[in-house]
Amino acid sequence: MENKVKIDIDFILNHLGEERENYYNAVAPPIIQSSNFSLKDIPTMRKAFSNEMKTHLYSRGNNPTVEILRKKIAALENADDALIFGSGIAAVAAAMMSQLKSGDHVICVESPYSWAYFLLTKYFPKFNISATFVDGKSLVAIENAIQPNTKLLYLESPNTLVLDLQDLEGCAKLAKKYNIVTAIDNSYCSPIYQRPIEMGIDIVIHSVTKYLNGHSDVMAGAICSSQEIINSIFENEFMAFGGIISPHDAALVIRGLRTLPIRLERSSSSTEKIVNWLSNHPKVRKIYYPFSNTHPQYQLAKKQMSGSGGLFSVEFDCDDILKMEQFVHALKYFLIAVSWGGHESLMMPTCGFYNIPGKENSHLPVSFIRFYIGLEDPNILIQDIEQALSFI
Ligand SMILES: *Cc1c(COP(=O)(O)O)cnc(C)c1O
Repeated sequence: MENKVKIDIDFILNHLGEERENYYNAVAPPIIQSSNFSLKDIPTMRKAFSNEMKTHLYSRGNNPTVEILRKKIAALENADDALIFGSGIAAVAAAMMSQLKSGDHVICVESPYSWAYFLLTKYFPKFNISATFVDGKSLVAIENAIQPNTKLLYLESPNTLVLDLQDLEGCAKLAKKYNIVTAIDNSYCSPIYQRPIEMGIDIVIHSVTKYLNGHSDVMAGAICSSQEIINSIFENEFMAFGGIISPHDAALVIRGLRTLPIRLERSSSSTEKIVNWLSNHPKVRKIYYPFSNTHPQYQLAKKQMSGSGGLFSVEFDCDDILKMEQFVHALKYFLIAVSWGGHESLMMPTCGFYNIPGKENSHLPVSFIRFYIGLEDPNILIQDIEQALSFI
């Protein structure tokens, strides 16, 4: 599908927020590496303290380089405003904390990002906040989990391991009926392929570390929302916990954003090619990819996403852990690594989550591998997988 609302991505990525006349008409924005800003007189001081988010007073609040990035990411999500954090999980934690107090209940989709799961199962219970995990594929399951104290519905569509989706418009409608705030981790799609605010979702979170920066050299996160919610998060979690990004890293992300659409286009078209090739391979049992027509939620994916990017999972026809290890070791163009969204192709093989001293084995089979397709030539990647498949 096409996104319903047209936003001017080219203007956002190349010009929005860049007031070049303020810095010698430099094309690339300067890195304002300053912790504080002097105030020329007392009226200026009063003005700065009256609205810290909009003026330059102290870089934990508003730094001019970070502000450029903030405006661009907000506009990409078609949100009123955004806040930029030093990691994706700092953004997740701040967004959750902003909506919850002692005694509240959260509904979360099954198998969310691991540290979001940690926050909801291990950390928030000590503040008497409880969570129920539901099959997000079913609006009925979500509705059945609602309690009188449910305050937040936390979504991740698609998630980044088994690629389950939620019906975002349906979730937004349902939550509004019960006065529940909705938040989504939109890292998988990026705002280029899915804009949840346009579908009625309240809060959008990103691991900027992934596609938005796109070069595997910065950790960052973002929250996009209404002005009211962003103002509240700024005055509370953002200023009080201080999980900010540095101006230098913000400048790197601004540089990364310039090429976001072409990086995604390349990664998506290569992934489609590779997924098609794998789908017909006799050594493949199952492919998890929303834009593959065998995905059980293919119609929903086509309805609410305009692209699917470079992340997918595969179950190979092999239950022998040693053979799976040989396959993994034979791949020359795929690094074994967590994360994704950069220039380089990666894999996260489940066999590495077996036999870790002191840890339970993964609940996924050893034949399961999550792949991320970077910017390399897809034909070379296919050849690489083909030669490695001789080991299984
Ligand atoms: C990586 C990731 C996060 C966490 O982001 P960090 O930048 O690593 O803190 C959150 N959600 C998803 C889906 C991710 O892939």
